[in-house]
Amino acid sequence: MPEFVDPSVEMILQHYAEDHRLLGAVTPPIFQNSLFVFDSYDDFLESGENDHVPKRRHNYSRISNPTLEIVERKIAKLEHMEAAKVFTSGMAAISAAIFSTIRQGSHVVAVDTCYGPTKQLLSEYLPKFGIQTTFVNGSDPQEVFDACEANTTAIYLESPSSLVFQLQDFEAISAFARERGITTITDNSYCSPVFQTPGDFGIDIIVHSATKYLGGHSDVVAGALCTSMDRMNALMRHEVPLFGAALPPFPAWLLIRGLRTLKIRMKAHEETGNRVAAFLKSRPEVDRVMHPSLPDHPRRELFCKQMRGTSGLLSFIPKVQEPDRLKRFIEDLEIFQLGVSWGGFESLAVTFPIQPMGWESEKWFVRLHCGLESAEDLISDLDQAFRKHLTP
Ligand code: PLP
Repeated sequence: MPEFVDPSVEMILQHYAEDHRLLGAVTPPIFQNSLFVFDSYDDFLESGENDHVPKRRHNYSRISNPTLEIVERKIAKLEHMEAAKVFTSGMAAISAAIFSTIRQGSHVVAVDTCYGPTKQLLSEYLPKFGIQTTFVNGSDPQEVFDACEANTTAIYLESPSSLVFQLQDFEAISAFARERGITTITDNSYCSPVFQTPGDFGIDIIVHSATKYLGGHSDVVAGALCTSMDRMNALMRHEVPLFGAALPPFPAWLLIRGLRTLKIRMKAHEETGNRVAAFLKSRPEVDRVMHPSLPDHPRRELFCKQMRGTSGLLSFIPKVQEPDRLKRFIEDLEIFQLGVSWGGFESLAVTFPIQPMGWESEKWFVRLHCGLESAEDLISDLDQAFRKHLTP
């Protein structure tokens, strides 16, 4: 195996952290064991149960396991961060990240358009413990600064957000936060590290729903958290062992398998997403298209600065705002299937009403995930359903 001093994304995805070709097996075996045993008491005592990088060997799979270690090292390297941990879901990673940054009486600032259950954790659950959150639009960093209080310990971002694709300025917000000892967290599920590495702009903790692009095959629910070694060692003492949400070995292995095609898949999702966005822009049935790649995106300059590409997730507001017609539009799509998740090989569509901060009224919108089918097929599918149901 080559020395991995500064590996390319491709080398990380294919070879990095797979040092041991056990019995010559070209893909790593799955360490499907709960426990590791020791020959001597000295080894046992030195195993460093709660260290992120075990001193000698792994000890217990709720804490660490060789199969997880491979995928964690790959994800950390891809994100340009020192350490990563994989969890049973994106929400498990997000909860661990948020809990690691709060204490009694803390205040959090979060973007209003973050993933629904993340918002629910902050707005409904944490207040039970005296933790309050101020939600902001976040497109203007000044709004984030103004929302911070003396007891703010965390700023939670999601850029681009996964419903309306608003961007937040990582560099400006993390510089402000660092001066005040506030921890910054962002959800990077939309871009994956192929198209955005928020750590380069000073973000402290990066979280992923690895269920989405990192896994990529709609066959695994998983999450990832990337951060510095110091923060990870603190997480290894509390949130990791105490919440007990380490990813089991088999889904970790599926993630290693899924990652091999991450870059190729992201480029395909991006190309198809861009073509579908341009098609939607050209349609008289569409009022507004939301996709970071569009030249009229309100934070175009930020897109050019912090993102290297986009993905297959986009949304639009149809002129027709009648729920029944919109539901029939979704049902009559033949390739796009009705479903809420995204990041897999399959194209998906969903419609529901939303009213993010700053919008004058609630609007029905349609969110599309462009999978790995051809752009032509997806466009003709949309075209036939537009003609049937959305002609104003
Ligand atoms: N973050 C975003 C942007 C999501 O869309 C989702 C799930 O849809 C999550 C986090 C949560 O991930 P998981 O479903 O793996 O818990």
